[in-house]
Amino acid sequence: MNLKILLKILRRILYMLKKWKLYWIVTVIFMLLSGCVTPPSQTQTGSMPDAVSSAILHPQNLSAGDRYTPELGNSGYDIQHYILKLDLIPGRRSLNGEVTIAAVATMEELKQISLDFIGFDVQTVAIDGLPAPFFRNKTKLIINLPGSFSTNQAFQIAVQYRGAPPKDRSKYQDYLDYLGLQATGDLLYVASEPDGARNWFPCNDHPRDKATFRFELTVPEGYTGIANGALSEARIGSTPDRPESKTTDFFVWEHRFPMATYLATIAAGKYVRLETVSPKGVLLRHYIWDKYRKDFETNSASIGEALDWMSEKFGAYPFEEFGYTLIKAKKKWALETQANVLVDREFIREKVLVHEMAHMWFGDWVSLDSWQEMWRNEGFATYVQLLWEYRDKPAALDKEMETEIKYPPKGFFPLGEPPHKYLFDRFVYNKGTLFVHDLRKTMGDEAFFRGLRLYFKRFGGRTATDADFRIVMEEAAGISLEDLFKKWLK
Ligand SMILES: [Zn+2]
Repeated sequence: MNLKILLKILRRILYMLKKWKLYWIVTVIFMLLSGCVTPPSQTQTGSMPDAVSSAILHPQNLSAGDRYTPELGNSGYDIQHYILKLDLIPGRRSLNGEVTIAAVATMEELKQISLDFIGFDVQTVAIDGLPAPFFRNKTKLIINLPGSFSTNQAFQIAVQYRGAPPKDRSKYQDYLDYLGLQATGDLLYVASEPDGARNWFPCNDHPRDKATFRFELTVPEGYTGIANGALSEARIGSTPDRPESKTTDFFVWEHRFPMATYLATIAAGKYVRLETVSPKGVLLRHYIWDKYRKDFETNSASIGEALDWMSEKFGAYPFEEFGYTLIKAKKKWALETQANVLVDREFIREKVLVHEMAHMWFGDWVSLDSWQEMWRNEGFATYVQLLWEYRDKPAALDKEMETEIKYPPKGFFPLGEPPHKYLFDRFVYNKGTLFVHDLRKTMGDEAFFRGLRLYFKRFGGRTATDADFRIVMEEAAGISLEDLFKKWLK
């Protein structure tokens, strides 16, 4: 078509749109189609952004880039540190929160960022201390930056919010009805794996963006606030910025090791703190209830030895202290929340405690670069649990697994490609465990454990892919493991 005629037609269309005041309809339809906004009923806005600034964020910045979970995470920046100031009322599935994030831009001309966040009312958003325009869709909080940031530019994000998240089921698991805040009895805690951290604080919700954390928890008097890391302050009867309040207790927890968001945890309840040390001197601190004390002490009697034993096998325990916090869940579960494992009170078994401890290395210290590779988390944690159980009779373990590794179970999906809702299926745990055993037998013990120590040394504090893992193990084995990986993962 002749360019002149085309321009004439375009001008005519623009004129008609203007005449019928249809500009805004076209703009909204375009934004809906491009996924930038959700319909008004689901959108929350703070100081209305203009149409130009709301459309800056490229869809690729609304993802960490994991093709298995494209809706999770955000790019364009890297979070270094979170400060979570939370007011918690045990038994109530809601909170008042203020999250301060230290981040660094990872691209040029960064003008807008997004955080994963579901539910709650966002009251204010500030960038470097100044109010910033923001808007929301169902799963993202999108913030306009005051100007164009360049690579390596540091900035601070502060979000104040309150309320509760919706009770939406995660598409990656159907065991729990919903993730995020969980309130039972006079207890409040969280369940976040794999995509539930965004259901209790605004974050970059993918293991690819790990950060250090500080938690400042205010709870009613007589309750204990618990989180990851080390308890650095406990004030009974007051909260610092509310000196007039005599009815609150205040707890500060600090975790100075990189942590994925799904491993961040909080719990508020009436707990008893138990303290001991492992034979090699790692502080073990647990939060339990007297009613379960005997059960806990019986099942955790060898936990210190197990921690030192794992340190010998995989490299020193990566964090500064370790322990378990009991919860009352509707169903039995435990979760490898970093350095402070949550365990349902009906699930206090040595093998569960050891399994979650193994995750401190497999999943926490080195995390999955893609959730699709779940076998590496659960296959190893389950296998380490067996290695511990059979530590005095290794031949019996070999015998038990001898036939099974010859004929890998088929299942209805390849181990390396679990459908979303089967991400935590027993098959992933069991077949993953058999794979690890076959790998160990193929490499021999010396190379196998040397390879694992090298893997933690090389990728500790970060994420790794199956390919990264294979390269390290091949380096230690001095042979190609390609066929073995294919045999188990395809
Ligand atoms: Zn596990």
